[in-house]
Amino acid sequence: MKDTILNADLHCHSKVSDGTLEPEDLAARAKANGVELWALTDHDEIGGQQRALEAAQTLGLPYLTGTEISVSFAHKVVHIVGLGFDHEDEELVQGLRATRGGREQRGREMAAGLARVGIHGAFEGSLKYVGNPELISRTHFARFLVDAGHCGDVSEVFRRYLTEGKPGYVEHKWASLGDAVRWITEACGVAVIAHPARYGFTPTEEYALITEFMAHGGRGIEVVTGSHSVAEAIKYAGVADEFGLLASRGSDFHSPTESRTDLGLLDLLPGRLTPVWSALQERIHHRASA
Ligand code: AMP
Ligand code: MN
Ligand code: MN
Ligand code: MN
Repeated sequence: MKDTILNADLHCHSKVSDGTLEPEDLAARAKANGVELWALTDHDEIGGQQRALEAAQTLGLPYLTGTEISVSFAHKVVHIVGLGFDHEDEELVQGLRATRGGREQRGREMAAGLARVGIHGAFEGSLKYVGNPELISRTHFARFLVDAGHCGDVSEVFRRYLTEGKPGYVEHKWASLGDAVRWITEACGVAVIAHPARYGFTPTEEYALITEFMAHGGRGIEVVTGSHSVAEAIKYAGVADEFGLLASRGSDFHSPTESRTDLGLLDLLPGRLTPVWSALQERIHHRASA
């Protein structure tokens, strides 16, 4: 039993999606920063899980499998983190493959939108930043546009070019909420609503998200994340209490130069909440025995 774990970091990205480090580098960084339980949660992709798991086991760093699934809900994109699933589960593997499937076409349409405002070659340019071509994302476009001198930093790119109503934004149909939650739970994992403060939902929409998510079998919500302010963490601690949701904690680390929060360097979860890992004890991978 490891219910004394405090420094869990259950949300970050590697080159397998839109992070800049390899899974092995993230494992070492998590260990060096004092992380006691780690999960790599690449977007719509579990191709890095075996590497992350092996690196963590070598370091004696307890590990939960992870992913972050893009979901379309109420005309917005919601992210659902999956933790502790069987990463060879066929339905999960196929579902994520289908979710990734439209990214190339979307990327080409984004580039066409950018070309209309005089920015040419953005698809090919962004591809150079991609570790996994199936996972071409807005983050890679943002890095390309910064390095090509169009903007000073990645957040300026999102503000000016890559968010709703801006020239490089393309609406996309991602997984459904029910499918994403089912793929995770049927593979013996726990589904968690990622960074709930980031969606800009009305209270009614947020209530619908949480109740539908729970009706499909979702059990967790991120409370302390690199994507929340202190005030937002307090608000969602209250939401976890109110709905009886398990609380999760993760940096959402992408890159040493772009991310606000490093692996493991977050506030602790409020002690009254039930941490998501208390429901995943049996799913934690410990050091491989010799
Ligand atoms: P995509 O899945 O291609 O739509 O890309 C979404 C990714 O873009 C997120 O996972 C974040 O890593 C990144 N992102 C979204 N909004 C912002 C923002 N305002 N500033 C920086 N990165 C962002
Ligand atoms: Mn990302
Ligand atoms: Mn996210
Ligand atoms: Mn993320």
